[in-house]
Amino acid sequence: MKSYDVVVIGAGPGGYVAAIRCAQLGLTTACVESWANDKGEPTLGGTCLNVGCIPSKALLDSSHQYQQIKQEANVHGITVSGVSIDVNRMIARKDTIVHILTQGIAGLFRKHKIDWLQGHGRLLSDNQIEISPVTAAHGEMTTVSAKHIILATGSVPMQIPAARIDNKLIVDSSGALAFNEVPRTLGIIGAGAIGLELGSVWNRLGAKVIILEALEEFLVPVDRQIAAQAHKTLQKQGLDIHLGTRVTGTGTNNRQVIITFDHSGDKQQIIVDKLIVAAGRQPNTAGLGAQEYGLQLDNRGFIEVDANCRTNLPNVYAIGDVVRGPMLAHKASEEGVAVAEGIAGHTGHVNYEVIPWVIYTWPEIAWVGRTEQELKERAHPYKSSAFPFMASGRARAMGETTGMIKILGDEKTDRILGVHMFGPNASELIAEAVLAMAFDASTEDIARTIHAHPTLSEALHEAALGIDKRALHI
Ligand code: FAD
Ligand code: AMP
Repeated sequence: MKSYDVVVIGAGPGGYVAAIRCAQLGLTTACVESWANDKGEPTLGGTCLNVGCIPSKALLDSSHQYQQIKQEANVHGITVSGVSIDVNRMIARKDTIVHILTQGIAGLFRKHKIDWLQGHGRLLSDNQIEISPVTAAHGEMTTVSAKHIILATGSVPMQIPAARIDNKLIVDSSGALAFNEVPRTLGIIGAGAIGLELGSVWNRLGAKVIILEALEEFLVPVDRQIAAQAHKTLQKQGLDIHLGTRVTGTGTNNRQVIITFDHSGDKQQIIVDKLIVAAGRQPNTAGLGAQEYGLQLDNRGFIEVDANCRTNLPNVYAIGDVVRGPMLAHKASEEGVAVAEGIAGHTGHVNYEVIPWVIYTWPEIAWVGRTEQELKERAHPYKSSAFPFMASGRARAMGETTGMIKILGDEKTDRILGVHMFGPNASELIAEAVLAMAFDASTEDIARTIHAHPTLSEALHEAALGIDKRALHI
């Protein structure tokens, strides 16, 4: 039986990063991965690379460009005519990007001499793993042993009884990344990040998008002021968002989906060409042998871990979407690095207080730290200042004046407590705020930092200046 210092189960951004860091630290490492793409080829990268972060951003970019050319080009004096979208080419471009990146991880594994064990991993004990091949064509059942095991088995789309996935008319987020034409009408269950991003893609390409969300409030985790602006803007773009609307059933004929929902006690129905179920994601421990070997799960099915991602089994760790905390790729990767460093005898650490969040609508929504409503709930004394992109020279030059940056600082110490953005390139701009918070900076630190002109980042500078009522351009 082959034995390793570390065997990682799952090669998403949690698992593959953990494997690379282990190998960098001189540990003999293998990574078990069962994913196969639609051609049946074993593939690394997990949800994020195959059906998550990357393909969704590829389609968001294509659809954004299409819309810009159609709707904004004439503002710049550019005349275009006959603009159309070839959905199959757009999807093929996305598939090529996924292929290049997943192949890239296979290359990194080779470079770091990480063994990629293709198949489904199951715990036999706290130091043995059985690997069953994805199909008979992919080899035989094997067993390996490891001094340390890292579980990084990720998450899968939440299934709801009201809308069973048939992969024809009713799809999950993976199906929605592979439509071969623009549906005329598209229903989406769930107005979370995934529902809004996929809704934006197909809305920009011409679908009439109706989003049904059970909660009364829009984007609960987001700062209320930012959520209100985003809600208004996305509605104006054509996303028909219905809050307080719980889907209770669906039916299909051969061509369409009939959705039954409850709105303020009223039962109603709509008919759409396609329905995306984006009702959240759940931890994936299927076939892992968790119960048999006494691996402790919490009441929602997440593997229970301590602050250092240790499970209740000795030398078995768990990271990423399969454990508590935000279901974000960068959180999974950071945990992977920290666990690898811990195993190698270093001090790994994840600062959960400064994890950035991004929703890639356009404009983008991004934040880090506490929201204003959280500070109010905790009775934490704070100062707040916001700067609108309307007053930014660069945003004006780009024709991107919707949105703002808001900064929250501790009333006494001035330490930054949270930064919230709705605006162009917020996904990139948030990095400055994350770095500032990681260094425990004050709002005054940002106010005294020179920002290049003209840039969108000046909006954060101005927001920080505004804490002491000294913003210059408003
Ligand atoms: P995963 O990426 O889910 O990987 C787990 C891997 O483990 C899978 O490859 C699976 O096949 C494998 N596996 C599971 N069980 C076994 C087993 N027993 N044996 C062998 N292999 C096994 N996050 C962001 O931060 N930014 C985004 O923009 C973003 N966009 C998203 C868009 C969509 C449409 C979706 C669905 C998700 C998005 N996410 C995004 C979330 C992100 O994809 C996840 O947070 C991230 O992939 C979690 O990483 P992970 O390594 O924990 O798990
Ligand atoms: P997220 O967990 O952020 O990806 O968002 C998923 C959203 O789907 C949540 O806001 C849920 O409230 C919503 N949701 C889940 N089930 C239903 C349902 N049956 N009808 C409408 N919305 C739902």
